[in-house]
Amino acid sequence: MSSDALENANRYFEQAAKVLDLGRDVAVQLRTPFREVRVELNVRMDDGSIGTFVGYRVQHDNARGPFKGGLRYHHEVDAQEVTALAQLMTWKTAVAGVPFGGGKGGIHVDASKLSVGEKERITRAFVDKINDIVGDHTDIPAPDMYTGPQEMGWFLDQYTKYHGYKPGVVTGKPIELGGSHGRAAATGRGCLYVTEELMARLGEPLVGKTVVVQGFGNVGGWAARLFAEQGALVVAISDISGGYYDPKGIDVAAALAWVAKHRTLAGFHAAKKVDNDELLTLPCDILVPAALGGVITEEVARGIRARVIVEGANGPTTPGADEILFAKGVHVIPDILANAGGVTVSYFEWVQNLQHYYWDEARVNEELRRVMRAAFDATWEQSRSRSLPMRMGAYVVGIGRVYTATRMRGL
Ligand code: GLU
Repeated sequence: MSSDALENANRYFEQAAKVLDLGRDVAVQLRTPFREVRVELNVRMDDGSIGTFVGYRVQHDNARGPFKGGLRYHHEVDAQEVTALAQLMTWKTAVAGVPFGGGKGGIHVDASKLSVGEKERITRAFVDKINDIVGDHTDIPAPDMYTGPQEMGWFLDQYTKYHGYKPGVVTGKPIELGGSHGRAAATGRGCLYVTEELMARLGEPLVGKTVVVQGFGNVGGWAARLFAEQGALVVAISDISGGYYDPKGIDVAAALAWVAKHRTLAGFHAAKKVDNDELLTLPCDILVPAALGGVITEEVARGIRARVIVEGANGPTTPGADEILFAKGVHVIPDILANAGGVTVSYFEWVQNLQHYYWDEARVNEELRRVMRAAFDATWEQSRSRSLPMRMGAYVVGIGRVYTATRMRGL
């Protein structure tokens, strides 16, 4: 699974490098990570035993600014997956046009089996090991799968013990610790904004469009809510407990309330329960994969009936599936554009931290819309003028910007 993630990331990169005619040496230079760190974490578990975990931080590129990217706590985390995701962050921050490079980290652990105390001790142990290589002007972590404001709060607190109060060392913090209004919703909101841009290009309204969302965490939950608020009809949602389908529409607010109470969607009432592959191939206008990577395989792609795919997750579509979707005329808004709203509001959070001056949510959302619109425009223009899928359009924009910065720095 995760070696596939790296293979897929490299394949997309190579395709774009060819379009940009970068040449072998430049392509290798841009693709190779700056630094890859692997650390051992020893933690006292609640039952008195010692838990040993492996954590990673990969710093991919910093030509355009400090390394930036999330930390995931997941049992599929390994060196290759983190390296793939770090590379995606480099192109993503460049597509968004925010002054960061790319990085990613993670801990190989099944977060669902950890108590709150164990999670805190693991987070602090991780900071003990990596605090020297992160910093508000070097490398700035953020939430990703199975991490959120609480983990970022512990991260900041532990980092402060070594280096003093520097709230900009990590983003996605609780508001009380210097987090930004609008950060929690930002990735889902960014998905909505780029979809609105696409629909405008296609000359169609979003109102009344049917939407299927895979994943009901921070990205999928917010995306479902925001699409529904704009008048789209969310017909299916899913999480670890399975998929929930109702062609007449899911009550998203009720589903969110259910999850707030019961942790997962298990037991939530819908017209029909479906499994994950069925979910992805349901009839709908817009499909939002917002869970794990690698879920849209060639077989799934052949069955997909959506006309638009908005990649809320990182790396949900394999290169083979991508080709099938392009041939079918499906518009795929790629991860490095579609889910860039998260890192964009992370940038706003960092700016607020450095200035010790805080914005209201209306300002955050307005500036997010401006950034997402510009990123969409640049991508659309590249994909139209070169007759490329939007993914390649976005890669050409992102890699092109990183290449220019790298060239201007010189060897
Ligand atoms: N983990 C998110 C992503 O994959 C956010 C990263 C960030 O805010 O730095 O884009």
